[in-house]
Amino acid sequence: MWQTNAVAVRAGGEAMLVDSPYFPDELEALPGLLAGAGFEPDALLATHGDFDHLLGRLAFPGLALGLGEPTVERFHREPGAAQRELRDHDGKFYVERPSPLALGQVQGLPVPGSVELGSEELELHPADGHTSDGLAVMARWCGVLCVGDYLSRVEIPMIHPNGSLADYRSTLARLVPLVEAADTIVPGHGAPNDRETALRLLDEDVDYLDALDRGEEKPALPKGRDDLEQRDIHARNLRVLG
Ligand SMILES: [Zn+2]
Repeated sequence: MWQTNAVAVRAGGEAMLVDSPYFPDELEALPGLLAGAGFEPDALLATHGDFDHLLGRLAFPGLALGLGEPTVERFHREPGAAQRELRDHDGKFYVERPSPLALGQVQGLPVPGSVELGSEELELHPADGHTSDGLAVMARWCGVLCVGDYLSRVEIPMIHPNGSLADYRSTLARLVPLVEAADTIVPGHGAPNDRETALRLLDEDVDYLDALDRGEEKPALPKGRDDLEQRDIHARNLRVLG
């Protein structure tokens, strides 16, 4: 659903799973699929607190979930919200799960900051604006940058009611040098992009935010992202900012 991505990275015999797929059959297949490719995650990490990024524990119930401290704070402000939204979406798509989502053991991580992974380290950079929380994960040694819900080929910038347009802009500016230092940029939704494509999406997103800021009802949406669903997201963005 929504072309949701999960990313596994490994270094020195340790592996980390960033974000998660959504459907129960994907979650069930994930451990075997990763093991077949030589990845056995030791820990889970979520880029932000939206329910579609938190389902890693349904595939790996024994693992701790790492969250940026802003995400932990968000969960304290909105207790049970992620579980509720998951239930609502599951209901809408007739999805049945063997067990409900329990976040289990959560580890709050300072952002900016870093986490050790085997012989290397994952950098955690602030990426708020889409929501009140959010981090981008840079695996510099292998050129992979996981940005969460930014820089998507299939989705225009989306401002959640707890997000902020100004913070969204700051995050895009912060992402520029990270994208320039990466080879593969993986968004939360849609195909991974090379550096050049991600920088183009970033420019398009800045232009879109300008139009949103001006309150334009019918702005030109970026090529490939101009459809009914994206128009709907734009209308919601206008309501959030209104
Ligand atoms: Zn998402």
